[in-house]
Amino acid sequence: MPDSKIALATAAHPDDVEFMMAGTLALLADAGYECHIFTIGNGNCGTASHTHEEIIRIRGQEGHDAAAVIGATYHNGLVNDIEIFYEPELLRQVTAIVRQIQPEIVLTQSPQDYMEDHQNSCRLTVSACFTRGMRNWITHPWVEPTLQDVFLYHCQPYGCIGPLREQILPSIVVDVTDKIDVKEEMLRRHASQKEWLDVSQGKDAYLVAMREGCEIMGQMAPKPVKYGEGFRQHLHVGHSAKDEDRLSTVLGDRVQRL
Ligand SMILES: [Zn+2]
Repeated sequence: MPDSKIALATAAHPDDVEFMMAGTLALLADAGYECHIFTIGNGNCGTASHTHEEIIRIRGQEGHDAAAVIGATYHNGLVNDIEIFYEPELLRQVTAIVRQIQPEIVLTQSPQDYMEDHQNSCRLTVSACFTRGMRNWITHPWVEPTLQDVFLYHCQPYGCIGPLREQILPSIVVDVTDKIDVKEEMLRRHASQKEWLDVSQGKDAYLVAMREGCEIMGQMAPKPVKYGEGFRQHLHVGHSAKDEDRLSTVLGDRVQRL
């Protein structure tokens, strides 16, 4: 099957992709990739004032607006926050979306992260990529299996630390210096979170935290860069016929191995 030139970033909540992976996704868009963002949760718990229905609608629209900054397509969340479980019905739905999109490069969250939603979204994404070609794995809705290679990468957990306080180091750092303003613009589109976090953490604290995280990643690169995003590549078995670091192939010198 020919290479698909389609990239998908998945995460638990609207704004997670923008926080941890959007610079790399923006670079892939520049490289000619059709880009998609899919959050498995709908963000319903990210509010101190809106009703359940209001915040789901608001955060869905924010997800679309943020994706539009780089010409990406946003796919709305399937379940409520904190209800993201590794279970068959949700995996059938996530697999249906992965089969519809047919991505070649998939960016997702870390298998170890401070929040169970993030870890479960990661597991669902990995399994959906694995089952994309299995005819007897029934998806909801039914979508024909696909057989393209998938190159799967995990972004860093929040604070580069796992839930047992273990340090998580990336194996590659992507230089996103040219895209840091685009990344910030995407994050700003999640205005409901800005309002909420400004009250609880101080004005624009989440934008500052995003930049600081990218500065720390940039410094980890063998040849340090101003802003970086760190990733670990998933083992290729079950996902691609050959063992290749497709992000490095596509993004060239912007990717440094640790
Ligand atoms: Zn999250």
